[in-house]
Amino acid sequence: MNSTKHFNILIIGAGPAGIGAAVALSKRGIKSIAIIERSDKVGGIPSFYKKKKGGVRTFIRWSRGGIPVFGEDYAQWLEKQLLKTKVQIELQTQVLNIDAKKKILTLVSPKEGEVNYSADAIVMACGSREETLAERGWLGGSRPVRVFFTKQLLCLLDGNHLLPMNNPLIIGSDLIGYAAAAKLKAAGASNAVIVDNRSGPKCGFFERLYFRLWSNPKYQGLSIKSIEITGNKTASGVKLNGKNIPCDGIVICGELIPNSELALNGNIKVELHSRKPVVAEDYQLSEPGWFAAGNMLGGFHGAEWCYFNGRRVARGVVNYLSQT
Ligand SMILES: Cc1cc2nc3c(=O)[nH]c(=O)nc-3n(C[C@H](O)[C@H](O)[C@H](O)COP(=O)(O)OP(=O)(O)OC[C@H]3O[C@@H](n4cnc5c(N)ncnc54)[C@H](O)[C@@H]3O)c2cc1C
Repeated sequence: MNSTKHFNILIIGAGPAGIGAAVALSKRGIKSIAIIERSDKVGGIPSFYKKKKGGVRTFIRWSRGGIPVFGEDYAQWLEKQLLKTKVQIELQTQVLNIDAKKKILTLVSPKEGEVNYSADAIVMACGSREETLAERGWLGGSRPVRVFFTKQLLCLLDGNHLLPMNNPLIIGSDLIGYAAAAKLKAAGASNAVIVDNRSGPKCGFFERLYFRLWSNPKYQGLSIKSIEITGNKTASGVKLNGKNIPCDGIVICGELIPNSELALNGNIKVELHSRKPVVAEDYQLSEPGWFAAGNMLGGFHGAEWCYFNGRRVARGVVNYLSQT
């Protein structure tokens, strides 16, 4: 392995939060900043939502009066902001491990192989993922073909123009679930059934009203104790309280969990139940010089919130650097 390269700031993740932090830190005059992204493009989750004629805009620009935009357009706007700075962008580079005390990251990329980077301060903006069947506890049964998470659905629908189901059933009722129902209907599927173990949908009233422009999914939630996925080779339905609801494909949406595995591996304190890193003032983590931003902080936040949160976290980083 080559010797360790040193930076003022390292940012893990080039989604909205990481880019917000990079742009703000650069504007505050910090010279040596690198942003590390495992994917081959910047933009994070929004970049997976492709722009399409007749497609569904699922990201809201609150700073532009609340206009809905395509994720891809938002990701391109983020990229433009990043390219205006001198921040070093490392694509196809995954952070494998961290040494929190020494502030060292071990990275791997096809270009450099395995290398170590160190920094005076590090921002973790690793995003979140959807909870799995096992983690949800109330979701049992088999795991046949045609059960997808949102990202896989996006790769098929937006990435490859394939419609993987005609009669969708969506598990999870937040904005992501309603957005998936709208996208499936816009691509030619019928209205989805959305199920959740809560009395009403999690998605807000105005967001649901907006997605009604494309689809009017049927919500089933009240008094659901457990859901069992049925079907031998391919999903054929779900059993809700003993009653079968047929479908030919299932999408598991929402219930986001922070990607805090790296923090855990580095002995940074993480709430084990929620997987949120423990955050103090200025978004500082339990090890000095480590910060978190965006969806890593837990909860469901849209891209614009994450971008501005990244900018706020940058202020905390600058305060920290001025005190050390
Ligand atoms: C499946 C899914 C669908 C969503 N759909 C919507 C939607 O339609 N509308 C909406 O408003 N919001 C949606 N959201 C919420 C969305 O996550 C936020 O809007 C926003 O993208 C979060 O920004 P972020 O920067 O915190 O995380 P992300 O956008 O997830 O970016 C994190 C980045 O970190 C990188 N990364 C993570 N770990 C490493 C590592 N070890 N090494 C290197 N790079 C790493 C990832 O590759 C990623 O690019 C969705 C979330 C998910 C999970």
